[in-house]
Amino acid sequence: MVLPFKHEPFTDFTDEKNSADFEAALNLVKGELGKEYPLVINGEKIYTDDKLVSNNPSSKDQIVGKVSKATKEHVDQAMDAALTAFKTWREWTAKERVDVLHRAAAIVRRRKHEFSAWLVYDAGKPWDQADGDTAEGIDFLEYYARQMVELGKGKALNDRPNEHNSYFYQPMGPGVTIPPWNFAFAIVCGTVAAPIVAGNPVLLKPSENTPVIAYKLMEVFEEAGLPKGVLNFVPGDPAEIGDYLVDHKDTHFINFTGSRATGTRIMERAAKVQEGQQFLKRVVAEMGGKDTIIVDKDADLDLAADAIVNSAFGFSGQKCSACSRAIIHQDVYDEVLEKSIKLTKELTVGNPSEENVYMAAVVNQKQFDKIKDYIEIGKDEGELAYGGETDDSNGYFVYPTIFKDLDPKARIMQEEIFGPVVAFAKAADFDELLEIANNTEYGLTGAVISNNREHLNRARYDFHVGNLYFNRGCTAAIVGYHPFGGFKMSGTDSKAGGPDYLQHFLEAKTVSEMF
Ligand code: GLU
Repeated sequence: MVLPFKHEPFTDFTDEKNSADFEAALNLVKGELGKEYPLVINGEKIYTDDKLVSNNPSSKDQIVGKVSKATKEHVDQAMDAALTAFKTWREWTAKERVDVLHRAAAIVRRRKHEFSAWLVYDAGKPWDQADGDTAEGIDFLEYYARQMVELGKGKALNDRPNEHNSYFYQPMGPGVTIPPWNFAFAIVCGTVAAPIVAGNPVLLKPSENTPVIAYKLMEVFEEAGLPKGVLNFVPGDPAEIGDYLVDHKDTHFINFTGSRATGTRIMERAAKVQEGQQFLKRVVAEMGGKDTIIVDKDADLDLAADAIVNSAFGFSGQKCSACSRAIIHQDVYDEVLEKSIKLTKELTVGNPSEENVYMAAVVNQKQFDKIKDYIEIGKDEGELAYGGETDDSNGYFVYPTIFKDLDPKARIMQEEIFGPVVAFAKAADFDELLEIANNTEYGLTGAVISNNREHLNRARYDFHVGNLYFNRGCTAAIVGYHPFGGFKMSGTDSKAGGPDYLQHFLEAKTVSEMF
């Protein structure tokens, strides 16, 4: 019997046994570094000469793995394989497809620390963040499996005399998944598992920053008995195959998580009907955020500082949910700022492949340079209250940085930085707190720290974000508990890990019979 969904527990690293187990997993993975990985098309492993090279962000000379790069011809081959696989995969019962996800979840759960250790090396995740990423991947598998069982039953309709009506869901056809590097296991897993369990073959193009952990998922699905051609692995250079995957006449859907620029580009390109294309493409796009924590006058200020610091600096702010703006009532502004600086001073920064640190390096040189530029912009626009240091001699280290006294329209209050930088601004009353919170083009996450019930009720409807949190931080959504997705330029509000997610990859059919 399948038990009701319950999220995967997180590992307590203060327990010495857990820490020792995790170190053993890091050692195991260390022995595997530098290997070559193939494309996987129709179950066949294909090694190419041209490779993506993945480095450890915290020790940039260390090569994590070299992953084969797909060309346009490989994409065509993968699409042919997917079209062929669709003919039989769609005929599997929902229950049979669901069983593959349950098996995949069991495989990952058994090797949980090993997967997290790969995330430490491939994505530069600190231990707790890597552990959360792996747990979320397992949750997506378990949750979407259960959702598919429900949807597999269809929905009830009304019948008139001598009439029988039925309503059920069927898969659409092959599509493309383009996940990000920041949840290099969880989001890859979720954005692949959902269309697959719904019956649609997938072409997976992982991020060029984190292709090795994505390949590990391919191994899991193979072991779990996913038939060949249902999941094809086509890593590559986005400039070479990105548009090609999206434009392909047989691509039925594009499941994308990443930047606003790429998401809007995909939206535009997918809208164009290609020669021979006989359907409209669907786009699921989860894009950026400029997420805000509001602190009211009547609030627990220790909780406020803790929420701001952990939401801003967890995984170095490299989450689309990260807090990059703290908007604080003028009466408590100085106190919250002071408490936040005090907490930030305690954060440890280092190499997580060697020790259990709070923060590690950011993912690559490009992100490092971008964040460094924003730190300079922040110095012009506001006052540096803490941090500001960077060091890319061994890894891409950006230290936690707090700016204060920002104008709500300043660039660092409006543009997504995707790094450990948070800007503080002051407001006179709750109206102004809300007004500033809503003044960006994004609408992903937000939090309100307040003891005022009337203010919380107003925020419930007037704080325009897809994931709104009260008296806690604005990151760390859990599958099945906090379905995730945003408004405005944050995307199509697909609500990953929520009860409606699978419907993005299904077509509903009505059959009416007279007798
Ligand atoms: N779901 C994650 C969270 O709530 C963020 C996902 C992302 O950054 O894409 O923190």
